[in-house]
Amino acid sequence: MYSDAALLQYIATEDAAETEALFAAAREARAPYYGNEVYFRGLIEFTNYCRNDCYYCGIRAGNRRVERYRLSLGEILDCCRAGDALGFKTFVLQGGEDPYFTDERVAELVGAIRERYPDHAITLSIGERSRGSYEAFFRAGANRYLLRHETANEAHYGRLHPDAMSLAKRKRCLFDLKEIGYQVGAGFMVGTPFQTPECLLEDLRFLETLQPHMVGIGPFIPQSDTPFASAPQGALTLTLRMVALARLLLPRALIPATTALGTVAPDGREKALLAGANVVMPNLSPKAVRKLYALYDNKICTGDEAAECRQCLEGRIRSFGFAPNMARGDFAFGSSRTTEFFEGIRQRGSCL
Ligand code: SAH
Repeated sequence: MYSDAALLQYIATEDAAETEALFAAAREARAPYYGNEVYFRGLIEFTNYCRNDCYYCGIRAGNRRVERYRLSLGEILDCCRAGDALGFKTFVLQGGEDPYFTDERVAELVGAIRERYPDHAITLSIGERSRGSYEAFFRAGANRYLLRHETANEAHYGRLHPDAMSLAKRKRCLFDLKEIGYQVGAGFMVGTPFQTPECLLEDLRFLETLQPHMVGIGPFIPQSDTPFASAPQGALTLTLRMVALARLLLPRALIPATTALGTVAPDGREKALLAGANVVMPNLSPKAVRKLYALYDNKICTGDEAAECRQCLEGRIRSFGFAPNMARGDFAFGSSRTTEFFEGIRQRGSCL
């Protein structure tokens, strides 16, 4: 149990030794569940059409300068085929809230992937839908859902989104998803305009309440065609501290070293692993559309082929002492590795 004062101290600290101690504690909290393994997820950014107008996001509806694209079912299946050949066991389908993708089309897409890859994890990240829609996608074979809450402070949420959107609705979606049986990912950006340390504290408290299986945390990075074009980007170390705090509060969570962290610093993702993260999400989207999924400026890896992305990340991870793991990497629902080990001995009646 961490008091508000203790969490705020870690959020605000400028002290290098205190920060390093926090990262070490986060690594220790991760160890019993995941060791030094880092799970790979193949990200497919399949549409950049969006009906929403989030002030920070480069693919917001109001941005007339973005060239819109939408992958066909065949193209998405091609990405899955390429990803599967590279060893990926999780496909993450992310996109804007594209009205073309009706419930029927999403269910058809999920069903087509499920039919071809019965043992893979299918993760959706397509924004807010009704509980009935989420249920239909789950029935079609989706297992996981990423929906960052973005900020858990009501007033702050209102300054990042138009009136048509609400934090209450976002939270409702997250609880619905959990109840349906998805492994759920929440999360937030660090350094968005008007964010205070108290907002970040609320983000942590919300994570404690929701108990998500995954937590995506990345720095805010301005995008030049948005209302926040000239706002400063989120700080690297503050973002890393938030990753570490999320790990301490949710030791079993799957926490990605986000692409946004790799964008603000060349070794940002590796530093996130050292601060408690344990997932990376290389891009499987076709090279031709990578640049168009421009949530923020200067996004990394937009010129690489999927295979290059995987190789490059694998090398980087190994060089920092971590072990790349291509398994599905589900949430550690059960016990820690240590408990499993002793449980194994108990069942077998011997150490062998
Ligand atoms: N439409 C989906 C996917 C959103 S894009 C949804 O609503 O969940 C995925 C994430 O990118 C967002 O949740 C947001 O946290 C992040 N993002 C968007 N714009 C960003 C920016 N300018 N800087 C950093 N991260 C950003």
